[in-house]
Amino acid sequence: MMNKDNNFVSVVIPVFNEEPVLNELIERSLNACESSGCPFEIIFVDDGSSDRSVEILSAASEKHPDKIVTCVLNRNYGQHSAIMAGFSEARGEIIITIDADLQNPPEEIPKLISKMLEGYDVVGTVRKNRKDTLFRKIASRIVNRAARIATGVNMHDYGCMLRAYRRHVVKAMMMCHERSTFIPVLGNSFARNTCEIDVEHSARAAGESKYSLWNLINLQFNLLTSMTTFPLRLLSVVGSMISAMGVGFGLLLLVLRIIYGNRWGMEGVFTLFAILFIFIGAQFVAMGLLGEYIGRIYNDVRARPRFFVQEIKGRK
Ligand code: UDP
Ligand code: MG
Repeated sequence: MMNKDNNFVSVVIPVFNEEPVLNELIERSLNACESSGCPFEIIFVDDGSSDRSVEILSAASEKHPDKIVTCVLNRNYGQHSAIMAGFSEARGEIIITIDADLQNPPEEIPKLISKMLEGYDVVGTVRKNRKDTLFRKIASRIVNRAARIATGVNMHDYGCMLRAYRRHVVKAMMMCHERSTFIPVLGNSFARNTCEIDVEHSARAAGESKYSLWNLINLQFNLLTSMTTFPLRLLSVVGSMISAMGVGFGLLLLVLRIIYGNRWGMEGVFTLFAILFIFIGAQFVAMGLLGEYIGRIYNDVRARPRFFVQEIKGRK
């Protein structure tokens, strides 16, 4: 068990037009952090809100200097980029992310902290009785399964942003420069010990979800492509299969033609099909090949660190 006082906690909260919930959020997260007994700071990142969010946050910062830090972005960069901005400001040894809309109650923060003090690198959460639309629940079940398979890390609820990371994990995440990130997956890829706890979930306290259907689709693609370039390879595989089928079909036609004579095979129309299939398949293979290259370029452009040394022991 580590000493509590050495565990400065930074809570990072992205805010995008959350005026109606902000006062309650500030109040409740302050109380929750106080009750944890750890020294803390709460970093609000304003992601280009157009309502009065910035004013409310600035006022709170003035009232509680050092406890509430407001970081204002010039425009809307999206939730995950906003959190990254918050990370760059965070000074804590333990860094916690939470949504602003009170769907995850801030009262869960102390639970996360005490779990982290047991020595985990990442503590994830699973939403009990999730209060979201059926469509979103089903979508996230599919995505979570894909993420589990691709990352090999057995976490169940990547969509839940209420998470705690140790400083070195956040540092590693900051070294990733790609534009499209999905923080929970990225965090897990740099963690050694992870665990999950159950947390409460409620409906949005006020305002609307900031994610439209299109944003959600975009987010899912970020999640998928941040893990793997496998879908590109699928193109090659499918292409080869179509081509092989075309060749098989052509051979079959040839055999039938020999056995049943000229009239069979619609005067060559079927043969045309067979040849067409071969070419279509070849095209897919070519596209897949291109994809492979693009996938590699993508990986290089991201320039993620090849490995990440967490700790070195036994050296002076
Ligand atoms: N958010 C943000 N920038 C955006 C969209 C959302 O900072 O472009 C914040 C938002 O203020 C909230 C969190 O990300 O704190 C999650 O957003 P929301 O609750 O709308 O998403 P949902 O719960 O519907 O997934
Ligand atoms: Mg929400």
